[in-house]
Amino acid sequence: IVTAPEPTGARVRLRPEIAALPPYRQGRPAPADGFKLSSNENPFGPLPSVVEVVASAAHDINRYPDATALALRERLAERFGVTADEVLIGAGSVALLAQFILAAAAPGDEVVYSWRSFEAYPGLVTVAGATSVMVPNRADHGHDLDAMAAAITDRTRVVIVCSPNNPTGVVVTAAEFEAFMAKVPADRLVLLDEAYAEFVRGDGSADDAVDGATLIGRYPNLVMLRTFSKAYGLAGLRVGYAIGPVELLDAARATAIPLGVTAAAASAAIASLEPAAEAELLERVGAIADRRDRVHATLVAQGWPVPVARSNFVWLPAGEATTAVAERLFDAGIVTRAFAPDGIRISIGEEESVDILLTILGELVPGSQ
Ligand code: PMP
Repeated sequence: IVTAPEPTGARVRLRPEIAALPPYRQGRPAPADGFKLSSNENPFGPLPSVVEVVASAAHDINRYPDATALALRERLAERFGVTADEVLIGAGSVALLAQFILAAAAPGDEVVYSWRSFEAYPGLVTVAGATSVMVPNRADHGHDLDAMAAAITDRTRVVIVCSPNNPTGVVVTAAEFEAFMAKVPADRLVLLDEAYAEFVRGDGSADDAVDGATLIGRYPNLVMLRTFSKAYGLAGLRVGYAIGPVELLDAARATAIPLGVTAAAASAAIASLEPAAEAELLERVGAIADRRDRVHATLVAQGWPVPVARSNFVWLPAGEATTAVAERLFDAGIVTRAFAPDGIRISIGEEESVDILLTILGELVPGSQ
């Protein structure tokens, strides 16, 4: 009989920076009859055609999925005019961000990004053992690309540009981005995180938002990241994609946890790209963008210094009042994402949430109390 050793009181040795890492912060659930405007989710439920393919994928869940989601890659390749090898599918674009950071940045290396930006970036960089170099946003809440270019050192391996930026909603313009790329050494990986691209409604001019789709094939060090979580409403299934040079995508394939993308997720994404389904989804995106513009215009008229948002959320720079304003909204059934002491990110959700939101914020305009 083998007996277990006596406990010695010794603690398992973990990486100290990992043990100290705070868990990814998710939005609080909404109270009953309330609205969850804290995770930039799509307020519309899934299309029946998407539910159908997910249900039918359920019949095969005793089998592993196709490891590379080839059918979805082929669909996206056709759409973006690239080969299927220039498309990489991930378990959400956050998984792809992790894969690319792991592929390029090791301990001692630096990853440059604007701050505030997507909350997951610092944790992903820490997991890779690399160091975050966070460049403060400009006063207008956009990326300070000049300062970001200046922050690139010999140790920089990855630069992340987020447009529209989460949580501020501000875009990088096409002209700004191209000027920036001219300053980034070609041997440093640039990740263009366009999780909210479909909400931009651009006009294609140089003053307009950068559109990664128009830059494909132009830079050997650029990868565009997009997701089905936001515009396509598949947040719960976890599916995102990257488009870029094969050599870079191969490196990110190597750092992936194998088989992360389920067959249900891949087939839901394919079903969402069917012409009739996509037309309906993009109509919803248009409705959300209209709602966003109305929320923005009203908040500005109320006196809130809200930057122009091109995403499915707006940024309320509430400053020191951030926590108090977020709590007041929560009491009224509206859950938002507070980033004290900077501001509050409010997702554009159900139509019924808009009046409640605007009424309360109208009463809380700084200086009006
Ligand atoms: N990038 C940005 C800027 C985001 O805001 C998010 C989601 N909040 C993601 C990437 C990741 O999205 P997902 O993993 O659902 O594709």
